[in-house]
Amino acid sequence: MLLLKDLDLEGKTVFLRVDFNVFLDEEGQICDDTRIRAALPTLNYLLEQKTKVVMASHLGRPKGQFNSKLSMKPVAQRLVELITEDVILAPDVIGKDVDTLKENLRVRQVLFLENLRFYEGENNNDPEFAQNLAEGIDYFVNDAFGACHRVHASIVGIPLYVKKSAAGLLVTEELEYLNFALYSPQKPYTAIVGGAKVSDKIPILENLLNKSDNILIGGAMAYTFFAALGYDVGRSLVEEDKKDLALKILNKAKDNNTNFQLPLDHIVATEIAPGKETKTVDDFPIPSDMMGLDIGPKTIQAYGAVIAQAKTIMWNGPMGVFEIEEFSQGTMKIAEAVADSSALSIIGGGDLVAAVTEAGVSDRISHISTGGGASLEYIANETLPGLEALSENNNDND
Ligand code: AMP
Repeated sequence: MLLLKDLDLEGKTVFLRVDFNVFLDEEGQICDDTRIRAALPTLNYLLEQKTKVVMASHLGRPKGQFNSKLSMKPVAQRLVELITEDVILAPDVIGKDVDTLKENLRVRQVLFLENLRFYEGENNNDPEFAQNLAEGIDYFVNDAFGACHRVHASIVGIPLYVKKSAAGLLVTEELEYLNFALYSPQKPYTAIVGGAKVSDKIPILENLLNKSDNILIGGAMAYTFFAALGYDVGRSLVEEDKKDLALKILNKAKDNNTNFQLPLDHIVATEIAPGKETKTVDDFPIPSDMMGLDIGPKTIQAYGAVIAQAKTIMWNGPMGVFEIEEFSQGTMKIAEAVADSSALSIIGGGDLVAAVTEAGVSDRISHISTGGGASLEYIANETLPGLEALSENNNDND
């Protein structure tokens, strides 16, 4: 796979795929511009190398139709505030007008295309759409780590129609950290896995069972394990059809001598809502009208002790319903324990980014991935469609 620095860029027109899929509030204002800032090193490098940059991202789910609420306008405006070069917002993604803008683009100028998902061809990986995106483009640079697990036209299609393709600086940095955890973790290697569903986390758990020394489980997914073991978990979220798989995972952990820990106590309530009375329960059965919504203090302490010994930490998924104050302590305390440890710590994007930011510890985590789904899939499969596309399609007709 080529990296940005392998390309001879001067004077070239480069298509830069970024992941600027930011949250917008009701008024269409950007809530958090982390993803925009994360792509600036690559953009600035391209501009310093005197390229013409055509940039594009997806935003939300417009389902193949123009939707003014999901226009790239506010994102382009934020970009203008963050860089000193010229940014032109294109009126569309492909088509004659866009092609003319591409042709007239000057060195060190940025043409920002409209939302890629305004066209069905993006999600369908339509070859014609990919070819239209590649019109007038010399090189493709993918810096959209958070979208590298998608088989979409702007991720896997464009490389077929340009001279060379390379990974941007953000993608390269994400891979450096994830590869460290995958291939050369310092031991003890502790994985913390939480979140709603076991089914989403099975591939990552299977990989971690072969690599890590400790796996600490939290979130609703713990209750599928407990239910599989025959405990009465009250109204806690259980995936009935995944109980067999949960047992297989537990058996594999035993065979591998992996220290696989389930919560020792639980914060329970009758409903997932703020202001409800909560109880700490450290034995089964969980009362029949209640559900486990966070890990309890004994678990925080036990997991904290394992985390303190770790040299490598991989964390994916919250320990409880952290969005609600009453059930947020488990996730916040584990975030503090991870930040306090001397381990190289990697947090796998998604909900946890918000949680560690709220806990005020994000600057003490070694790496916070910009792509939750992509980092999960990379750890599970050790590759991603977007990376394969960069490796396979370098047409040497420069
Ligand atoms: P995931 O996307 O699989 O990482 O799951 C994240 C979601 O799981 C968050 O929105 C949490 O509120 C939710 N969650 C975590 N623990 C629980 C729990 N014990 N019961 C219900 N939902 C939970």
